[in-house]
Amino acid sequence: MKANYHTHTERCRHAQGTEEDYIREALKAGVSILGFSDHAPFPDHDFGFRMPYDELETHLSALDRLAKLHASDIVIRKGLEIEYLPRYRDYYERLLTRDGLDYLLLGEHFYPDHGEAPFITSAQSTLDNIRYAEGIAAALKTGYFFAVAHPDLFTMNHFAWDRNCDAAVDIILNAAVSAGAILELNANGFRRGVHSYPDGDRYMYPHIKFWEAAAQTGLPVIIGSDCHEPCQVWDEQMDKAKAMLRALGIVPLEQMEDRIAHERRKKRSAL
Ligand SMILES: [Zn+2]
Ligand SMILES: [Zn+2]
Repeated sequence: MKANYHTHTERCRHAQGTEEDYIREALKAGVSILGFSDHAPFPDHDFGFRMPYDELETHLSALDRLAKLHASDIVIRKGLEIEYLPRYRDYYERLLTRDGLDYLLLGEHFYPDHGEAPFITSAQSTLDNIRYAEGIAAALKTGYFFAVAHPDLFTMNHFAWDRNCDAAVDIILNAAVSAGAILELNANGFRRGVHSYPDGDRYMYPHIKFWEAAAQTGLPVIIGSDCHEPCQVWDEQMDKAKAMLRALGIVPLEQMEDRIAHERRKKRSAL
């Protein structure tokens, strides 16, 4: 079974294709569950590289319409890839209740730094990787997120691996274990190609050291396409991601429908 919960659209202004284009490609590739998780807007601040806030409603109603239209062929899920910023707790709550989202995919691109949220690539040292990890841990404690997109994104930083990187991995994995979170192995890292780092050539992410440690935890792992073009919905990078996990002894989750249903029940009984 093919399920992908990490799909962007042109609404984020750096991806191509409409909702419909991605569904068409997914059907062609034999994908049976397609979850949209475009870069979330925030009501009062534009962090860049995301959909404008005033398009959110249109986007969600387009997904509702398309889900109905294609109901006999594919399951469409509504999500957002979103960063955790403590001041938006009411917003996360609203997205999951009133706005009817199926999930919030925690996609941290910033690290918390004295009330600011700089992009991870502007980290000054590997100490900022620890801040990044602590941001994920704080997010997972809130219960708004049950899946973490590219939990190893901090390895985009141009530093050699060191003790702080090990510490960041520990913080993220311990937080994920406590929260029972699902980790995403992000296939888009492969699409970004191999780059030179002070300690050798490698993909920006996924980073083997992170995933070797993740394999020891038994945490559930899902592969995410993170497609920014319709033809990437299920391309060879998805197979590469699967192969990387298999080599580490990790059997990836095929889907997270049970988890979505479970979280929805939890939310309903809390209301
Ligand atoms: Zn993007
Ligand atoms: Zn993404």
